[in-house]
Amino acid sequence: MYVGVVAQCNPNDQVESWYDWFKDMQNQTIEMYGKPLTVAQENQVGDSIHLQLINETPLIGEHAKQRHINQMVKRISQYVERKEVRYQIHVLADRSTLNAFSIAGGHVYITEKMLEWVENDDELAFIIAHEIAHIDRKHGARKVQTSELAAALIGQYDPSFAGLASQAVLVATAPFGQIDEYEADKWGAVLANKAGFNPRKGLRFFQKMGEKEQYSMYEKIIRTHPYSVERINCLDDFLRNELGL
Ligand SMILES: [Zn+2]
Repeated sequence: MYVGVVAQCNPNDQVESWYDWFKDMQNQTIEMYGKPLTVAQENQVGDSIHLQLINETPLIGEHAKQRHINQMVKRISQYVERKEVRYQIHVLADRSTLNAFSIAGGHVYITEKMLEWVENDDELAFIIAHEIAHIDRKHGARKVQTSELAAALIGQYDPSFAGLASQAVLVATAPFGQIDEYEADKWGAVLANKAGFNPRKGLRFFQKMGEKEQYSMYEKIIRTHPYSVERINCLDDFLRNELGL
């Protein structure tokens, strides 16, 4: 079945069972053909990719909001399922792109521009929780596993091994599929909600971004997290029906 058809998220039994079926198939395929990673290996792969990534885009070591977002990550990650993953958030020295993304091994990234652009903690928590949800549900790890980079990266912790590492950055930062985005939307909303933030304000943020037509800035986050009208509607339904928000 075409993924676009599966990727609907109304809380309706039939669609939900398709969704579960698709995720099961994906997990089975990885077990059969991929290279399952232990959490220690996932952290190692993530750290290796992280070193290469910050080589390309430097981090702001002492951003004014660093402590604040560290606390936010701590607060949200209390509710994750994979508690052995070390969650860390990094501020990328990029004042022109509105973006946030995550890679395997607990690394979450947000640009300076994004930190300036969000108007309140609910919006920020929504973005961070969405990224944490991608990691908690192994979306980042899965990208690495299916690319067969994992085996090469484990034991190749040397960041000077640039060819492989830059290839790994491309794989790790490539957009997630729609199914993963729906899952991260829902699970991220649950995590943000449990941590005491209002995910509905987070959803409004994405609607607001679209309305403001800041297309060049909107573009990158659209590319890494394509927000369609259906996706906004799905999350809206989920917040109302499942979380009572
Ligand atoms: Zn996403």
